[in-house]
Amino acid sequence: MALSLRWRLTGWYVLLLAGVLLLFSLTTYLAVQRLLTENFDAVLRQQAALVAQAIDEDDGQPSLAQDVWLPDIRDSQHFTRIYRTDRRRSFNSSTVPEPIPELLDAVEVALRGQQHLAQVRLERTTLRVVTLPIVHERQIVGALQVGVALTGIEETMAALLRVLLVLAPATLLAASGGGWFLANRALTPIDQITRTARRISAENLSGRIGLQGPDDEIGRLARTFDSMLARLEAAFVRQQQFTADASHELRTPLTAVIGQIDVALEWPGTLESYRRTLRAVREQVERLTRLTNDLLLLARADGQFLSEPVEPVDLGSILPALVAQVEPLARTRDVALALPPVPSITVPGNEDHLIRLFMNLLDNAIRYTPAGGQVTLGVMCQPGRVGVRVADSGPGIAPEHLPHLFDRFYRVDAGRSRGQGGSGLGLAIAQRIAQAHGGAITVESAVGVGSTFTVWLPTEARGVGRERVAVG
Ligand code: ADP
Repeated sequence: MALSLRWRLTGWYVLLLAGVLLLFSLTTYLAVQRLLTENFDAVLRQQAALVAQAIDEDDGQPSLAQDVWLPDIRDSQHFTRIYRTDRRRSFNSSTVPEPIPELLDAVEVALRGQQHLAQVRLERTTLRVVTLPIVHERQIVGALQVGVALTGIEETMAALLRVLLVLAPATLLAASGGGWFLANRALTPIDQITRTARRISAENLSGRIGLQGPDDEIGRLARTFDSMLARLEAAFVRQQQFTADASHELRTPLTAVIGQIDVALEWPGTLESYRRTLRAVREQVERLTRLTNDLLLLARADGQFLSEPVEPVDLGSILPALVAQVEPLARTRDVALALPPVPSITVPGNEDHLIRLFMNLLDNAIRYTPAGGQVTLGVMCQPGRVGVRVADSGPGIAPEHLPHLFDRFYRVDAGRSRGQGGSGLGLAIAQRIAQAHGGAITVESAVGVGSTFTVWLPTEARGVGRERVAVG
């Protein structure tokens, strides 16, 4: 099984911290060691110079009556040697319990007039050794070699090492606990999100994470997830409603057809009565066909692009043709139809679907406008878009219905609309077509005055056909 994120986060954190601590300890150790050694050397040189001053000159040869020691290093193990120019020792004293080798290379350097500093590691002691020339009346008469044990520094360094060896793991341990706590704290809301997501299924979309907390990355993730669930739930409810409405709409004409057939079968009738029944059945079947065609179109709108294939559609030619097509219906209903001359304006899109869009609006306007009323078409050109207006002097639509007007199967007055052959899908289809063309439909209406539907379409191909129709 893969390690959980909180383990991995803590692991990386501890590893990183261990590296940083190691680097820090090493640097501290080396820096302290260097500092102490430098101080030690400075004192050693100073003390050696003072000893050199105490050296007598006897017959051109350096000599020291007894070991001269100054308070700074008197207490440490040390040795003093004086060499003559012939490399022989003329003085030797040592408090170091181990034998110290001859350091003739250093003596050579000193006899050449230079100072020499070296570290000598014996079995139990480490010595810092300075060798310097003994000058008498501007003449090098010998070399003085002084060595002092580094015991003090070694003890300090060992103590520092002990502190670091205890402190670093303790810090690491404490920080690991802190890291685990922080990772846990940061990831707990994610577990909550996972649990909620597991609980949610298509049948039960009502679960929400409901995370209370600051507006940080996790908070935003939880809220985005919740709003996505809300949208999904709403879409799912709409889908269920749509299925229920569609079944209901299909059942009504089917029930009527079965009733009429049953009546015809039960009693022997005349040829004329059978004809009447068949005509009535045909009417219902036509309604069913219209309904299934509409449903099919909407189903396609949900899954595909209603504007494809994209071709230039001339509104200047389709609008007059449409008006001519609905003219007979308007005349039958005694509704005056007016279309001022339309200039040639092309919009990119699918001609069949655009004709369907305008036809739905025109058909509604004529059907809902009482006799003696008026339906007027108008075209408005604006930079980048064109608006086609269908205005009527019908009953108007109350404001509370306006937000739902484009919902599937929504009817302001169900009985009246169905009686007029309306399925409640006309405006939903019109809006889907407009959206698929990158456009929109707006509606203004006043009860008792009339309604105006305006279709806005872009005049450039930008976005057309790529605008996916939203679900729901
Ligand atoms: P229908 O097939 O019922 O006409 P639509 O989707 O075309 O369905 O319209 C939805 C509802 O909007 C209609 O039932 C009707 O009540 C109302 N409506 C649409 N157009 C008009 C209009 N021009 N004037 C008044 N009401 C309208």
